[in-house]
Amino acid sequence: MKEGLEGLRVELTAAPRGVPPDATANFGTVFTDHIFQMRYDAGQGWHDPEILPLADLSLAPGTSVLHYAQAVFDGLKGFRGRDGVVRLFRPEAHAQRLRRSAERLAIPPIAEEWVVESFLRLVDIDREWVPAERGTALYLRPTIIATDIAVGLHPSHSFLYFLILCPVGAYYAEGAAPVSIVATEEFVRAAPGGLGDAKTPANYAASLLAGERAKEAGYTQVLWLDAVERRWIEEVGTMNIMARIGEEVVTPPLGGTILAGVTRDSALRLMRSWGLKVSERPIAIDALVAAAKDGTLSEVWGTGTAAVVSAVGEIGWRGERVRVNDGKAGALTRRLYDAVTAIQYAEAPDPFGWTVSVPAYN
Ligand SMILES: *Cc1c(COP(=O)(O)O)cnc(C)c1O
Repeated sequence: MKEGLEGLRVELTAAPRGVPPDATANFGTVFTDHIFQMRYDAGQGWHDPEILPLADLSLAPGTSVLHYAQAVFDGLKGFRGRDGVVRLFRPEAHAQRLRRSAERLAIPPIAEEWVVESFLRLVDIDREWVPAERGTALYLRPTIIATDIAVGLHPSHSFLYFLILCPVGAYYAEGAAPVSIVATEEFVRAAPGGLGDAKTPANYAASLLAGERAKEAGYTQVLWLDAVERRWIEEVGTMNIMARIGEEVVTPPLGGTILAGVTRDSALRLMRSWGLKVSERPIAIDALVAAAKDGTLSEVWGTGTAAVVSAVGEIGWRGERVRVNDGKAGALTRRLYDAVTAIQYAEAPDPFGWTVSVPAYN
């Protein structure tokens, strides 16, 4: 057996579909022509990397992932720069996180170099699918699932890694319009010792009902509080949360229940390089609401790959709706959006070395 991706087998589709004109209209519903796949078997390790024409997976109904959700995924983007070059944004950081998520789910991790190479190889082959318009991107969804056919509960002995790609537009239909968020005391996203810092399907299944309740109450997203005291803010929807209070930018510290966002890390590094005072410290919901009322809270935003930053215009807490910055996106939120996207589209220098150009392999 060959090491790593050296033995990569490529089978191109005989029937390229061509990029549909409205490919980016609905986030994550249009997929490119090819898929990357690699299998794991106990005793063999990860083996037989392949790029194949995109096709449905065939799984026995007893496949363990369908019953016990032993699975992890990640999400990152590639961009067509102003110069026409296709670049991925921080692929190593996403490969590293996929490994950490896998370890938490008792999934044998894949070497980060192999994961990054899978990104570059597949994007190279489906390169024409990377949209060019500012705000659009190619979304990469690497996923690992347990494939033992067994409904007895045990860590699987076999796995499938696959990577699929979607051309996407701006994540929120309302563009940069601020979202409204509501803190819930009824539901929690993650508890200490649980899965909160892994990107794993169970977390998202656990969040859906709370999200529906928030929408019924007229809010866009859930503001998650900690599981123990229901007092400390943790995340907003599937984004990390940041706030500007007085002259300080604050965000909750990573402590096992919060997903370590790559966008969070990028925003913190940029703000520190701008000389801003940035603190990773616990923030109580009552203190946040009090600061919104007395005006010291000037901005709140979420960070994540899909939207980069998303301004929060309103916070719901115990039946009260409190506006932030008059319901408008703040100056720092916009500055962060502009700075990150300028690097992504190669309109500005990349001082942190975050982007990786996709080479032409053939
Ligand atoms: C993916 C995700 C984020 C954001 O992470 P990025 O790496 O910035 O995309 C934040 N919170 C949760 C719960 C997530 O799943």
